[in-house]
Amino acid sequence: MYEFIQTEAAARGFEKVFFLPSALLPEWKAAEEQTGVAPHLHWDPAAGYPKATCFLLVVFPYSPFDPTERISAYYLASQKSYHAVKDLVAAIAEQGVYCELADVPARAFALKHGIGVQGKNGLLRLPGYGSRIAVYVIATDACLPMPETWAAVPCPDGCTVCYDACPFHAIGRKGLCVTECMRYHMQGTEYPEAVYEKQISHMGCEVCQHVCPHNAPLKRSAPTEEVRRAFDLRRLVEGDTKAARELVGRNKTGNGKLTVEAIRFAARQGLYRSEIEKALETSPFPAVQRAAEAVLQRNFTET
Ligand code: SF4
Ligand code: SF4
Repeated sequence: MYEFIQTEAAARGFEKVFFLPSALLPEWKAAEEQTGVAPHLHWDPAAGYPKATCFLLVVFPYSPFDPTERISAYYLASQKSYHAVKDLVAAIAEQGVYCELADVPARAFALKHGIGVQGKNGLLRLPGYGSRIAVYVIATDACLPMPETWAAVPCPDGCTVCYDACPFHAIGRKGLCVTECMRYHMQGTEYPEAVYEKQISHMGCEVCQHVCPHNAPLKRSAPTEEVRRAFDLRRLVEGDTKAARELVGRNKTGNGKLTVEAIRFAARQGLYRSEIEKALETSPFPAVQRAAEAVLQRNFTET
């Protein structure tokens, strides 16, 4: 089954598969209890998935976009890889074995097994891929563990590049303070005003990844025309978010989230006033109405 799993994974964009035993993740549990992030994940994978004889850690690399892009390559890759991993799980299960996607903190699981390194920006970094990866854990009884490590170069002591660039000053000498990171405050439909002032790309922040020298050798790509059309700013301001939501995940973009962001981006550039006025009148989403009202008062009053 090892070769079958690797071949099926590679066909779906997963360039590495690790066959790992379970491992307790008490440090992750302690951090989760402090931040409240992802409480559904299992810190004891064996307890959460008692039928599993092996946990597969699968790695889906992606190419970042230019830092000036308003569209995030990560969220597109995240959605694409999520569908790919579900498909991979189905393909393995079709062989008559137990297999399911595991709610296990993949970064902590990888680090526990000596795979990659955690940068001061908090992200998992792997050799050759930097932090530009989506990782998942799969529980299965299709095979047994074949533990291997895959060491990456840790952050140099003196490197403060991400520390200096972080717009929220969330990275200190000891690493990331999760609750200070912009992304921590972007989980709902509406964000604090400070986020809207600094936000460059939809749904998250990638500044610390763009500046990290370990990501510098990675080849950049550009959004396809389909993606550009889906994320056309006017289109999003007008509330036509269907295509964009399909690309980045409907479950992450409900209640007008992308339109709220688009209104904020447009207002900063002085664009689409009449479309924003229309959104105020016609949007079914209170968050969109509040965003429109706020920017019409603040960004367009003098014109
Ligand atoms: S994602 Fe943005 S806000 Fe968060 S640590 Fe990185 S640069 Fe700072
Ligand atoms: S910018 Fe420097 S300190 Fe920050 S994650 Fe990259 S190597 Fe580490």
